[in-house]
Amino acid sequence: MSRSYISESLRQQIVAQCHHRCAYCLTPQNYVCGSFTIDHIVPQSRGGATEIDNLCLACWLCNLRKGNRVSALDPLTNKRIRLFHPYQQIWIEHFEFQGQGALIEGLSDIGRITVQMLNLNSPIRIETRKIWIAANLWPPI
Ligand SMILES: [Zn+2]
Repeated sequence: MSRSYISESLRQQIVAQCHHRCAYCLTPQNYVCGSFTIDHIVPQSRGGATEIDNLCLACWLCNLRKGNRVSALDPLTNKRIRLFHPYQQIWIEHFEFQGQGALIEGLSDIGRITVQMLNLNSPIRIETRKIWIAANLWPPI
């Protein structure tokens, strides 16, 4: 068994801890056909542990975009900024919904970098959120 093994019971704890939503874009897992991924917040390649405080639920789009990155340059300040950490930071302090929820805007440097890095406002995401809005299923908070 590798050290990255995530048991079914650990997975269920993470899903509950994340309220059955992607920890980054807040998409509920039950809105898509299939299970979300378990993301290492600090990637294993950077020494992140396979432990509950370093694992969160992440949709496929967010996980693919995140890859093994943890930070990026803020184009406004040219400073290296860490990506949003779902447990050390509070979502509503770094992001807000606009356009009735179709768009996610960064409220801080962390929020801006995360929106950009994870491409939280890609056309497919905006179109999908508009369908959820029309069905009174969005925004989630
Ligand atoms: Zn997501």
